[in-house]
Amino acid sequence: MNARAATRDQGHTPLLAWMGGTFDPVHIGHLRAALEAARALDVTVRLMPAQVPPHRPQPLASAAQRLCMLQLAVAHTVELQVDARELSRSGQSFSVDTLLELRAELGDVQPLALIVGADAFAGLPTWSRWLRLFELAHIVVLNRPGAATPADWSAELRAQVEWRRCVNPLELCGTAAGKVFSLAITPLAISATAVRDSFALGETPHWLIPPEVLAYIENEGLYQNVGAT
Ligand code: ATP
Ligand code: MG
Repeated sequence: MNARAATRDQGHTPLLAWMGGTFDPVHIGHLRAALEAARALDVTVRLMPAQVPPHRPQPLASAAQRLCMLQLAVAHTVELQVDARELSRSGQSFSVDTLLELRAELGDVQPLALIVGADAFAGLPTWSRWLRLFELAHIVVLNRPGAATPADWSAELRAQVEWRRCVNPLELCGTAAGKVFSLAITPLAISATAVRDSFALGETPHWLIPPEVLAYIENEGLYQNVGAT
């Protein structure tokens, strides 16, 4: 019996999961990570581009271009979808506001998960109303090469994880929110920064991004003539 069938069998509601990001551009690291999470949790993962990402320089590609690249990237992968809801909100795209919006739509009982890479998770205490995030969703943390390890986390983050950690993904379907689950995925040292830098150096980042996304970038003239970051 797979995780979703086991969940139904126990009378639990299947999990819904989102992975936010800047996706400037989407790359194989995002896609493989999201696919492995989708399979491990037996969910469809919704990739959700931020309109105005907090805490970082603004993207080089427009929101419409980043959305288009995501749609091209997931077109042939049934486990992955794109959710453009943050693009219809003006101002900074705070995850807590998105989760509040999802709760208003889906109610208080539906189990929700926010999937983040380990680098993003280490910075969680800097996110807007970060403790509220745990009241609204579970957090699934994916390993990422070069990211901070638990030993590097702030004491306040460690304290939260200590009592929220769960080891069986089925537990994520038993409650609406509040657990932290670490999922081991194939480590891929790929970043959008490296992809943008590759373009800036006049190289073509073959096999770091899907060929459809590369063709779109070339057609749009994106990431050209920009100094390496
Ligand atoms: P940038 O270099 O511009 O910051 P990025 O590659 O980190 O780009 P983001 O859009 O910032 O991509 O990341 C969105 C989410 O995907 C974050 O939670 C991030 O941790 C996760 N992520 C990105 N790349 C990987 C990867 N290679 N492995 C695991 N998680 C990843
Ligand atoms: Mg990043």
